[in-house]
Amino acid sequence: NLIRREDYVAPIFWIRTVDLCFDLDPAKTLVTSKMRLERNAAVAHGPLRLHGEELNLLRVLIDGESVSFRTEGHELVIDNVPDADFTLEIRNTCCPEKNTSLSGLYTSGGGFFTQCEAEGFRRITYFMDRPDVMAVYTVTMRADKARFPVLLSNGNLLETAELDNGRHLAKWHDPFPKPSYLFALVAADLVAREQRIRTRSGKDHLLQVFVRRGDLEKTEHAMNSLIASVVWDEARFQLPLDLERFMVVGVSDFNMGAMENKGLNIFNTSALLASPATATDADFQRIESIVAHEYFHNWTGNRVTCRDWFQLSLKEGLTVFRDQEFSQDMAATPSARAVCRIQDVRGLRARQFPEDAGSMAHPVRPDQYVEINNFYTATVYDKGAEVVRMYQTLVGRDGFAKGMSLYFERHDGQAVTCDDFAQAIADANPGSALSTRLDAFKRWYAQAGTPRLQARGHYDAATQTYTLALQQVNPPAPGQDGKLPQVIPVALGLLSPDGQALPLMLQGEDGAAGATDTERVLVLDQAEQSFVFVNVPVAPVPSLLRGFSAPVVLEDGLGDAELLVLLKHDSDAFNRWEASQRLALARILGAVRSGKPLTLDAAYLDAMRAVLRHPALEPAFKALALQLPDEAYIAEQLSDVDPQAVHAAVAAAQEQLAAALQADWVWAYDAHQVAGGYQPDPVQSGRRALSNLALSMLVLQATRSGDTVWPGRAYQRFKDAGNMTDRLGALSALVNAHAELADSALARFHSQFKHDALVIDKWFALQGRAAEQEGRTFARVKQLLKHPDFTLKNPNRARSLIFSLCMFNPAAFHRRDAAGYVFWAEQVLALDAINPQVAGRLARVMDRWTALAQPYRSAAREAIARVAAKPDLSNDVREIVERALAMD
Ligand code: ZN
Repeated sequence: NLIRREDYVAPIFWIRTVDLCFDLDPAKTLVTSKMRLERNAAVAHGPLRLHGEELNLLRVLIDGESVSFRTEGHELVIDNVPDADFTLEIRNTCCPEKNTSLSGLYTSGGGFFTQCEAEGFRRITYFMDRPDVMAVYTVTMRADKARFPVLLSNGNLLETAELDNGRHLAKWHDPFPKPSYLFALVAADLVAREQRIRTRSGKDHLLQVFVRRGDLEKTEHAMNSLIASVVWDEARFQLPLDLERFMVVGVSDFNMGAMENKGLNIFNTSALLASPATATDADFQRIESIVAHEYFHNWTGNRVTCRDWFQLSLKEGLTVFRDQEFSQDMAATPSARAVCRIQDVRGLRARQFPEDAGSMAHPVRPDQYVEINNFYTATVYDKGAEVVRMYQTLVGRDGFAKGMSLYFERHDGQAVTCDDFAQAIADANPGSALSTRLDAFKRWYAQAGTPRLQARGHYDAATQTYTLALQQVNPPAPGQDGKLPQVIPVALGLLSPDGQALPLMLQGEDGAAGATDTERVLVLDQAEQSFVFVNVPVAPVPSLLRGFSAPVVLEDGLGDAELLVLLKHDSDAFNRWEASQRLALARILGAVRSGKPLTLDAAYLDAMRAVLRHPALEPAFKALALQLPDEAYIAEQLSDVDPQAVHAAVAAAQEQLAAALQADWVWAYDAHQVAGGYQPDPVQSGRRALSNLALSMLVLQATRSGDTVWPGRAYQRFKDAGNMTDRLGALSALVNAHAELADSALARFHSQFKHDALVIDKWFALQGRAAEQEGRTFARVKQLLKHPDFTLKNPNRARSLIFSLCMFNPAAFHRRDAAGYVFWAEQVLALDAINPQVAGRLARVMDRWTALAQPYRSAAREAIARVAAKPDLSNDVREIVERALAMD
């Protein structure tokens, strides 16, 4: 049951309109679907095939007459179909309250909700559940009025009515043809925050955010983010809101962050609700970006959608790029923009780089899948966004905007492919660095794996030339060797050793070109190319891949001296941060590789102190530069990974940074307190990030040295904090340092917030992520599985405890006694029986098992094999574990 991209065939029928009628009942919902179908004249004749899963079929009528049909696996097949247009009527039931997979129609907190992407609609009724079949939907819902007072679906409300037996009805119509994955329905007891806005075109719109009673005051930030998104998309890309009414709904049981259903976005409450008392700065930031992401899908995803699921990055890569650009524009200052970029790249390296090197490596446009839900990945989303960013780098910001206009001019209302997007951007920019190498550029969609970019510079004092030799290596990925060179835009600058930016004129250019530029973009499109800069007065320090201009691993061979120049002087904030990370990485890797204990040298510590004390750098930037690289990213640099050795080196670095800079951390903590009311803006949140980092360093150092003052102050702050960022910052400082006060703080936190599920998720997550010490964290997690508040059925809760341990706490998870892997196997199997999508995600923790050293490697293999041996595994988990075992 492998689905291949090359096997795509257009549908034999089109479904033009759908009239859906729901009689909602948690135990047995009756669905009647009346569709107008016509043959697709462009393809060969054949039977009508409809998808359906977990349905109870009651009847099938064509033009009002019953017809004979058969079922083949999950398909309903009708052989005798009229040649002309016809009406197909299907009646079936489904059982929302038993639907624990949270795909299709399900119940949560007593209400009805749907999730149809990618293939959930077939769990509601029989349909051609594929994105290239686009229909106009009319939806009638009938439900008990007292229990389900709010009835929502896509588009515009046509009518409401009272019915007998305390039931009521609502009828909705969505004028835009859409694929079934964008269908949505909500029937629940909800309240809404409402806002009317007038957009630039002069049209009025109603924005609504629906949540459970009691959560209304936590929707202000989401509403503000939505308004900002509408304004931004009109200004930046001339893309207006095309609906009279735009609705957002929060639900507590949800498999992912949110979903862009046309006019009716459905959100995980964790990606929607925020108040200063219950959400952190990071939550506020994440909500802003997810609200924007789903809103932007209205054009990039809904108006123009995907022809098939292999094209997923067409909408996801592009929409992530758009939400990243939005967040940068909202951040406003250059420094805050750089902080956004650094965070995005940190995420890419921690999640996508390992993916690209592991058992699930796949191109941005995959060639095959067993279960499409397994391909909502960091590669499709985040590497896909980097590919879109490279288009913009190659054609310029204005050129990219032109390309987007042409894309919508050509494809509005269509289901298209990544090739169509590439062609539109190229055609709008004839003669550009993109158009002249479009075929080579498109290898980014086809070749899996992270390219390595090697750079070596040579300065010739006699001729005042600097030769930069670039070489790319594309290591083989599963099923892909003999890869071709990719198109790599390399943004760069050259610095003199005292930090001056040097002009960048290439040999052979006339005097004008490059004579005064101090930053430019070279395009590497061969395996090897050299670039010769002229009129270079001194041997320069190269600042390469500025702003992370391509998703590659850069090997520039720079040593400490050069990195220190970049850390001190680079005008590119990203590379300045990168220098801080490279300095730390070199030291940690040196310790891990040599097996010797890590000792941080004075040069490094002085440089970090200089960053911390720097008069001009922003606190948010400092917090990022002083944070050590992720253990997952460090592990990627090694071939035989001993996670305990990596952790020991990072922990040692942390302790030495805490001790050596103790007085500076005291200063940083005191100097970055925030006065006045809470705002989640970049300035305030940057100050909080730095003061919380300082506090964690101070508590760590105090615990090691037996001092009780700072743990006491942290406890006080934990109790008195005016917002969740500071409260959780203080609590995590105590928990991670295993300070004596940690347990009583955890107990206090639980009793204070026991009625707020999203905060209790944080309470579980903090313990699941707590720095490991002699197995205490692991033991604690196993104990917490039995906590009355714990349940595997709620994905947020399952993630908060289990994923925190298995995914984000390598030292607690990778145990020499293999208990972590046994735990993982048990939890994957338990989750698979409830929710295969969530189980599939957890299964991916073992993607990189072949990079592990012994004894981890054998133990990991055994655990994976144990999962794979279970009969009746879901497609989701089976695909993951089989691919993992195939790496052996
Ligand atoms: Zn998306």
